[in-house]
Amino acid sequence: FDFRNENTFESDSDLTNTLRPLSFDDFKGQKKIVDNLEIFVKAAKIRSEALDHVLLHGPPGLGKTTLSNIIANELGVGLKITSGPVLDKPGDLAGLLTNLEPHDVLFIDEIHRLSPIVEEYLYSAMEDFRIDIMIDKGPSARSIQIEIAPFTLIGATTRSGLLTSPLRARFGINSHLEYYDIDVLSKIVVRSAALLNVPIEENAAHEIAFRSRGTPRIVNSLLRRVRDFAMVKGNGAIDLKITRFALEALNIDKYGLDEMDNKILATIIDKFRGGPVGISTIATAVGEDAGTIEEVYEPFLIKEGFIKRTPRGREVTSLAYSHLDRTNVDNHQENRLF
Ligand code: ADP
Repeated sequence: FDFRNENTFESDSDLTNTLRPLSFDDFKGQKKIVDNLEIFVKAAKIRSEALDHVLLHGPPGLGKTTLSNIIANELGVGLKITSGPVLDKPGDLAGLLTNLEPHDVLFIDEIHRLSPIVEEYLYSAMEDFRIDIMIDKGPSARSIQIEIAPFTLIGATTRSGLLTSPLRARFGINSHLEYYDIDVLSKIVVRSAALLNVPIEENAAHEIAFRSRGTPRIVNSLLRRVRDFAMVKGNGAIDLKITRFALEALNIDKYGLDEMDNKILATIIDKFRGGPVGISTIATAVGEDAGTIEEVYEPFLIKEGFIKRTPRGREVTSLAYSHLDRTNVDNHQENRLF
Protein backbone atom coordinates (compact mmCIF):
# COMPACT_ATOMS: atom_id res chain seq x y z
CA PHE A 1 0.00 0.00 0.00
CA ASP A 2 1.54 3.25 -1.10
CA PHE A 3 0.37 6.07 1.13
CA ARG A 4 2.42 8.60 -0.75
CA ASN A 5 -0.16 8.76 -3.49
CA GLU A 6 -1.83 12.01 -4.43
CA ASN A 7 -4.59 11.53 -1.87
CA THR A 8 -2.12 12.19 0.92
CA PHE A 9 -1.97 15.82 -0.04
CA GLU A 10 -5.66 16.46 -0.44
CA SER A 11 -7.09 18.96 1.96
CA ASP A 12 -10.26 18.14 3.83
CA SER A 13 -12.26 20.56 1.72
CA ASP A 14 -11.13 18.89 -1.50
CA LEU A 15 -12.26 15.64 0.01
CA THR A 16 -15.63 17.09 0.90
CA ASN A 17 -16.15 17.83 -2.76
CA THR A 18 -14.95 14.37 -3.79
CA LEU A 19 -17.36 12.73 -1.40
CA ARG A 20 -20.43 14.83 -2.19
CA PRO A 21 -23.05 12.84 -4.09
CA LEU A 22 -23.98 14.45 -7.43
CA SER A 23 -27.23 12.69 -8.33
CA PHE A 24 -30.37 11.55 -6.54
CA ASP A 25 -29.19 7.94 -7.06
CA ASP A 26 -25.99 8.64 -5.18
CA PHE A 27 -27.74 10.32 -2.27
CA LYS A 28 -28.44 7.69 0.40
CA GLY A 29 -31.35 7.75 2.83
CA GLN A 30 -34.05 10.45 3.27
CA LYS A 31 -35.97 8.30 0.80
CA LYS A 32 -39.33 10.06 1.02
CA ILE A 33 -37.83 13.49 0.48
CA VAL A 34 -35.63 12.33 -2.39
CA ASP A 35 -38.48 10.44 -4.12
CA ASN A 36 -40.68 13.52 -3.99
CA LEU A 37 -37.96 15.91 -5.10
CA GLU A 38 -37.22 13.66 -8.07
CA ILE A 39 -40.83 13.93 -9.18
CA PHE A 40 -40.97 17.71 -8.75
CA VAL A 41 -37.70 18.11 -10.67
CA LYS A 42 -38.94 15.91 -13.52
CA ALA A 43 -42.26 17.75 -13.70
CA ALA A 44 -40.57 21.15 -13.78
CA LYS A 45 -38.35 19.94 -16.61
CA ILE A 46 -41.31 18.61 -18.60
CA ARG A 47 -43.09 21.94 -18.22
CA SER A 48 -39.87 23.88 -18.92
CA GLU A 49 -40.46 25.91 -15.80
CA ALA A 50 -38.34 26.83 -12.82
CA LEU A 51 -38.77 24.38 -9.96
CA ASP A 52 -40.91 25.71 -7.12
CA HIS A 53 -38.96 27.23 -4.20
CA VAL A 54 -37.65 24.61 -1.76
CA LEU A 55 -37.12 24.90 1.99
CA LEU A 56 -34.78 22.29 3.51
CA HIS A 57 -34.62 22.19 7.25
CA GLY A 58 -32.91 19.95 9.76
CA PRO A 59 -29.78 19.69 11.88
CA PRO A 60 -26.34 20.47 10.40
CA GLY A 61 -24.47 17.96 8.25
CA LEU A 62 -27.49 15.98 7.06
CA GLY A 63 -27.21 16.91 3.38
CA LYS A 64 -29.03 20.20 2.74
CA THR A 65 -26.20 21.71 0.68
CA THR A 66 -25.64 18.39 -1.06
CA LEU A 67 -29.31 18.12 -2.03
CA SER A 68 -29.24 21.65 -3.46
CA ASN A 69 -26.26 20.70 -5.63
CA ILE A 70 -28.09 17.60 -6.78
CA ILE A 71 -31.28 19.50 -7.57
CA ALA A 72 -29.37 22.00 -9.73
CA ASN A 73 -27.47 19.16 -11.45
CA GLU A 74 -30.60 17.18 -12.15
CA LEU A 75 -32.36 20.28 -13.45
CA GLY A 76 -29.33 20.97 -15.62
CA VAL A 77 -29.13 24.58 -14.40
CA GLY A 78 -26.58 26.81 -12.69
CA LEU A 79 -26.27 27.13 -8.92
CA LYS A 80 -25.33 30.21 -6.94
CA ILE A 81 -24.56 29.77 -3.27
CA THR A 82 -24.81 32.35 -0.51
CA SER A 83 -25.94 32.57 3.08
CA GLY A 84 -28.24 34.64 5.26
CA PRO A 85 -25.56 36.48 7.25
CA VAL A 86 -23.57 37.33 4.10
CA LEU A 87 -26.49 39.05 2.38
CA ASP A 88 -26.71 42.04 4.65
CA LYS A 89 -27.78 44.72 2.14
CA PRO A 90 -30.63 44.58 -0.40
CA GLY A 91 -28.05 45.52 -3.05
CA ASP A 92 -26.17 42.24 -2.43
CA LEU A 93 -29.34 40.29 -3.08
CA ALA A 94 -30.25 42.37 -6.14
CA GLY A 95 -26.78 41.74 -7.60
CA LEU A 96 -27.18 37.98 -7.23
CA LEU A 97 -30.74 37.87 -8.53
CA THR A 98 -30.13 39.97 -11.62
CA ASN A 99 -27.26 37.68 -12.62
CA LEU A 100 -29.30 34.49 -12.61
CA GLU A 101 -30.04 32.65 -15.85
CA PRO A 102 -33.59 31.38 -16.35
CA HIS A 103 -34.42 28.43 -14.03
CA ASP A 104 -31.13 28.70 -12.10
CA VAL A 105 -31.00 27.73 -8.45
CA LEU A 106 -30.09 30.24 -5.76
CA PHE A 107 -29.10 28.50 -2.53
CA ILE A 108 -29.31 30.54 0.66
CA ASP A 109 -27.84 28.72 3.65
CA GLU A 110 -28.89 29.78 7.16
CA ILE A 111 -31.85 31.55 5.65
CA HIS A 112 -33.24 32.24 9.15
CA ARG A 113 -30.41 34.77 9.55
CA LEU A 114 -31.48 37.09 6.71
CA SER A 115 -31.96 40.67 7.75
CA PRO A 116 -35.60 41.82 7.70
CA ILE A 117 -34.99 44.31 4.85
CA VAL A 118 -33.34 41.73 2.62
CA GLU A 119 -36.11 39.28 3.44
CA GLU A 120 -38.68 41.86 2.38
CA TYR A 121 -36.97 42.15 -1.03
CA LEU A 122 -36.96 38.42 -1.40
CA TYR A 123 -40.75 38.24 -1.17
CA SER A 124 -41.44 39.92 -4.53
CA ALA A 125 -38.48 38.17 -6.11
CA MET A 126 -39.87 34.79 -5.09
CA GLU A 127 -43.46 35.58 -5.95
CA ASP A 128 -43.34 37.74 -9.08
CA PHE A 129 -39.70 37.42 -10.20
CA ARG A 130 -39.37 41.14 -9.81
CA ILE A 131 -37.53 43.45 -7.45
CA ASP A 132 -38.04 47.08 -6.59
CA ILE A 133 -34.81 48.99 -6.24
CA MET A 134 -34.48 52.50 -4.82
CA ILE A 135 -32.23 54.70 -6.91
CA ASP A 136 -30.88 58.10 -6.00
CA LYS A 137 -31.13 59.71 -2.63
CA GLY A 138 -33.05 62.62 -1.19
CA PRO A 139 -35.80 64.39 -3.19
CA SER A 140 -34.99 62.61 -6.45
CA ALA A 141 -35.12 59.16 -4.88
CA ARG A 142 -37.46 56.82 -6.71
CA SER A 143 -37.95 53.12 -7.00
CA ILE A 144 -37.66 51.21 -10.23
CA GLN A 145 -38.81 47.70 -10.93
CA ILE A 146 -36.42 45.16 -12.34
CA GLU A 147 -37.54 41.90 -13.87
CA ILE A 148 -35.47 38.88 -12.96
CA ALA A 149 -35.31 35.46 -14.60
CA PRO A 150 -37.63 32.83 -13.13
CA PHE A 151 -35.48 30.99 -10.61
CA THR A 152 -35.65 28.50 -7.77
CA LEU A 153 -34.74 29.59 -4.29
CA ILE A 154 -33.52 26.80 -2.05
CA GLY A 155 -33.39 27.92 1.54
CA ALA A 156 -31.62 25.83 4.17
CA THR A 157 -32.00 26.21 7.90
CA THR A 158 -31.17 24.37 11.08
CA ARG A 159 -33.72 26.46 12.93
CA SER A 160 -36.99 26.44 11.05
CA GLY A 161 -38.69 27.81 14.15
CA LEU A 162 -36.98 31.15 13.51
CA LEU A 163 -38.41 31.59 10.01
CA THR A 164 -41.06 34.26 9.66
CA SER A 165 -44.40 32.97 8.42
CA PRO A 166 -44.51 35.16 5.26
CA LEU A 167 -41.16 33.71 4.19
CA ARG A 168 -42.11 30.15 5.05
CA ALA A 169 -45.37 30.54 3.10
CA ARG A 170 -43.47 31.36 -0.09
CA PHE A 171 -41.84 27.93 -0.31
CA GLY A 172 -43.91 25.49 -2.35
CA ILE A 173 -41.79 22.52 -1.29
CA ASN A 174 -40.93 22.05 2.34
CA SER A 175 -38.75 19.14 3.50
CA HIS A 176 -37.45 18.18 6.90
CA LEU A 177 -34.26 16.10 6.93
CA GLU A 178 -34.02 13.47 9.66
CA TYR A 179 -31.02 11.88 11.35
CA TYR A 180 -29.80 8.83 9.42
CA ASP A 181 -30.08 5.21 10.52
CA ILE A 182 -26.92 3.20 11.10
CA ASP A 183 -27.56 1.04 8.02
CA VAL A 184 -27.74 4.04 5.71
CA LEU A 185 -24.72 5.64 7.39
CA SER A 186 -22.77 2.39 6.92
CA LYS A 187 -23.54 2.54 3.21
CA ILE A 188 -22.27 6.13 3.12
CA VAL A 189 -19.04 5.01 4.85
CA VAL A 190 -18.57 2.24 2.28
CA ARG A 191 -19.27 4.62 -0.62
CA SER A 192 -16.87 7.27 0.71
CA ALA A 193 -14.16 4.66 1.41
CA ALA A 194 -14.45 3.43 -2.18
CA LEU A 195 -14.08 7.01 -3.46
CA LEU A 196 -11.01 7.45 -1.25
CA ASN A 197 -9.61 4.10 -2.43
CA VAL A 198 -9.39 2.65 1.07
CA PRO A 199 -10.35 -0.95 1.65
CA ILE A 200 -12.77 -1.22 4.59
CA GLU A 201 -14.38 -4.14 6.39
CA GLU A 202 -18.10 -4.12 6.88
CA ASN A 203 -18.00 -4.22 10.69
CA ALA A 204 -15.55 -1.31 10.70
CA ALA A 205 -17.92 0.72 8.49
CA HIS A 206 -20.70 -0.12 10.93
CA GLU A 207 -18.61 1.01 13.90
CA ILE A 208 -17.86 4.37 12.26
CA ALA A 209 -21.54 4.78 11.38
CA PHE A 210 -22.57 3.99 14.94
CA ARG A 211 -20.32 6.69 16.38
CA SER A 212 -21.32 9.45 13.95
CA ARG A 213 -24.36 10.95 15.64
CA GLY A 214 -26.69 10.05 12.75
CA THR A 215 -24.83 12.55 10.55
CA PRO A 216 -23.14 11.97 7.16
CA ARG A 217 -20.76 14.90 7.65
CA ILE A 218 -19.43 13.27 10.84
CA VAL A 219 -19.24 9.88 9.07
CA ASN A 220 -16.96 11.36 6.44
CA SER A 221 -14.73 13.19 8.87
CA LEU A 222 -14.34 10.15 11.15
CA LEU A 223 -13.59 8.00 8.12
CA ARG A 224 -10.76 10.34 7.11
CA ARG A 225 -9.26 10.25 10.56
CA VAL A 226 -9.52 6.46 10.80
CA ARG A 227 -7.90 6.30 7.36
CA ASP A 228 -4.97 8.28 8.78
CA PHE A 229 -4.55 5.76 11.60
CA ALA A 230 -4.83 2.86 9.16
CA MET A 231 -2.09 4.35 7.00
CA VAL A 232 0.33 5.14 9.79
CA LYS A 233 -0.37 2.44 12.37
CA GLY A 234 -1.65 -0.32 10.09
CA ASN A 235 -1.33 -1.46 6.51
CA GLY A 236 -3.72 1.11 5.04
CA ALA A 237 -6.81 -1.09 5.15
CA ILE A 238 -9.53 -0.28 7.67
CA ASP A 239 -10.62 -3.15 9.93
CA LEU A 240 -12.51 -3.14 13.21
CA LYS A 241 -9.36 -3.21 15.32
CA ILE A 242 -7.74 -0.13 13.82
CA THR A 243 -11.13 1.63 13.80
CA ARG A 244 -11.62 1.07 17.53
CA PHE A 245 -8.04 2.10 18.19
CA ALA A 246 -8.50 5.33 16.20
CA LEU A 247 -11.87 6.22 17.74
CA GLU A 248 -10.41 5.61 21.18
CA ALA A 249 -7.41 7.82 20.43
CA LEU A 250 -9.73 10.53 19.09
CA ASN A 251 -11.86 10.36 22.23
CA ILE A 252 -15.02 9.72 20.24
CA ASP A 253 -17.96 9.05 22.51
CA LYS A 254 -19.21 5.45 22.51
CA TYR A 255 -22.57 6.51 21.09
CA GLY A 256 -21.18 9.34 18.97
CA LEU A 257 -22.66 12.00 21.28
CA ASP A 258 -20.91 15.36 21.24
CA GLU A 259 -19.94 17.61 24.11
CA MET A 260 -23.23 19.51 24.22
CA ASP A 261 -25.27 16.27 24.09
CA ASN A 262 -23.39 14.97 27.11
CA LYS A 263 -23.65 18.31 28.89
CA ILE A 264 -27.43 18.30 28.44
CA LEU A 265 -27.74 14.76 29.80
CA ALA A 266 -25.37 15.41 32.71
CA THR A 267 -27.22 18.61 33.60
CA ILE A 268 -30.63 16.93 33.69
CA ILE A 269 -29.21 14.16 35.87
CA ASP A 270 -27.03 16.21 38.21
CA LYS A 271 -29.08 19.38 38.60
CA PHE A 272 -32.63 18.16 38.07
CA ARG A 273 -32.47 14.59 39.37
CA GLY A 274 -33.11 13.19 35.91
CA GLY A 275 -36.11 15.42 35.20
CA PRO A 276 -38.81 16.11 34.25
CA VAL A 277 -37.52 19.60 33.55
CA GLY A 278 -38.58 22.27 31.05
CA ILE A 279 -36.54 23.00 27.96
CA SER A 280 -35.89 26.64 28.87
CA THR A 281 -34.59 25.62 32.30
CA ILE A 282 -32.21 23.15 30.66
CA ALA A 283 -31.16 25.84 28.18
CA THR A 284 -30.27 28.31 30.92
CA ALA A 285 -28.35 25.67 32.83
CA VAL A 286 -26.19 24.62 29.86
CA GLY A 287 -25.87 28.14 28.42
CA GLU A 288 -27.40 27.39 25.02
CA ASP A 289 -30.42 28.82 23.26
CA ALA A 290 -33.65 26.88 23.96
CA GLY A 291 -34.63 26.73 20.27
CA THR A 292 -31.25 25.29 19.31
CA ILE A 293 -31.57 22.61 21.97
CA GLU A 294 -35.05 21.79 20.75
CA GLU A 295 -34.27 21.73 17.02
CA VAL A 296 -30.63 20.68 16.86
CA TYR A 297 -29.70 18.59 19.93
CA GLU A 298 -32.83 17.09 21.38
CA PRO A 299 -34.13 15.27 18.27
CA PHE A 300 -31.07 13.00 18.21
CA LEU A 301 -31.13 12.37 21.96
CA ILE A 302 -34.79 11.40 21.71
CA LYS A 303 -34.27 9.25 18.62
CA GLU A 304 -31.49 7.30 20.32
CA GLY A 305 -33.45 6.87 23.53
CA PHE A 306 -31.47 9.09 25.93
CA ILE A 307 -34.30 11.52 26.64
CA LYS A 308 -38.07 11.27 26.65
CA ARG A 309 -40.61 14.03 26.37
CA THR A 310 -43.28 13.96 29.04
CA PRO A 311 -46.14 16.38 29.65
CA ARG A 312 -44.11 17.86 32.51
CA GLY A 313 -40.86 18.30 30.59
CA ARG A 314 -37.82 16.30 29.53
CA GLU A 315 -36.67 13.24 31.39
CA VAL A 316 -33.49 11.23 30.89
CA THR A 317 -33.75 7.46 30.48
CA SER A 318 -31.73 4.71 32.15
CA LEU A 319 -29.55 4.61 29.03
CA ALA A 320 -28.41 8.16 29.84
CA TYR A 321 -27.54 7.13 33.41
CA SER A 322 -25.51 4.14 32.29
CA HIS A 323 -23.82 6.05 29.48
CA LEU A 324 -22.63 8.74 31.88
CA ASP A 325 -21.82 6.23 34.63
CA ARG A 326 -24.31 7.77 37.02
CA THR A 327 -26.48 5.77 39.40
CA ASN A 328 -30.17 6.18 38.93
CA VAL A 329 -31.58 7.47 42.20
CA ASP A 330 -35.15 6.35 42.23
CA ASN A 331 -37.07 9.35 43.55
CA HIS A 332 -40.09 7.40 44.70
CA GLN A 333 -38.03 4.92 46.64
CA GLU A 334 -36.21 7.78 48.32
CA ASN A 335 -39.39 9.66 49.22
CA ARG A 336 -40.75 6.63 50.95
CA LEU A 337 -37.82 6.60 53.36
CA PHE A 338 -38.88 9.90 54.89
P1 ADP B 1 -25.76 20.42 5.46
O1 ADP B 1 -25.83 21.37 4.30
O2 ADP B 1 -27.10 19.85 5.83
O3 ADP B 1 -25.05 20.96 6.66
P2 ADP B 1 -24.03 18.91 3.67
O4 ADP B 1 -24.91 18.81 2.48
O5 ADP B 1 -22.91 19.89 3.62
O6 ADP B 1 -24.91 19.14 4.99
O7 ADP B 1 -23.47 17.45 3.95
C1 ADP B 1 -22.30 17.19 4.68
C2 ADP B 1 -21.46 16.12 4.04
O8 ADP B 1 -22.11 14.88 4.18
C3 ADP B 1 -21.25 16.34 2.54
O9 ADP B 1 -19.88 16.50 2.31
C4 ADP B 1 -21.74 15.10 1.85
O10 ADP B 1 -20.67 14.49 1.15
C5 ADP B 1 -22.18 14.17 2.93
N1 ADP B 1 -23.56 13.73 2.75
C6 ADP B 1 -24.66 14.36 3.21
N2 ADP B 1 -25.77 13.66 2.94
C7 ADP B 1 -25.38 12.54 2.29
C8 ADP B 1 -26.07 11.41 1.76
N3 ADP B 1 -27.40 11.29 1.88
N4 ADP B 1 -25.35 10.45 1.15
C9 ADP B 1 -24.02 10.54 1.08
N5 ADP B 1 -23.29 11.59 1.57
C10 ADP B 1 -23.96 12.57 2.18
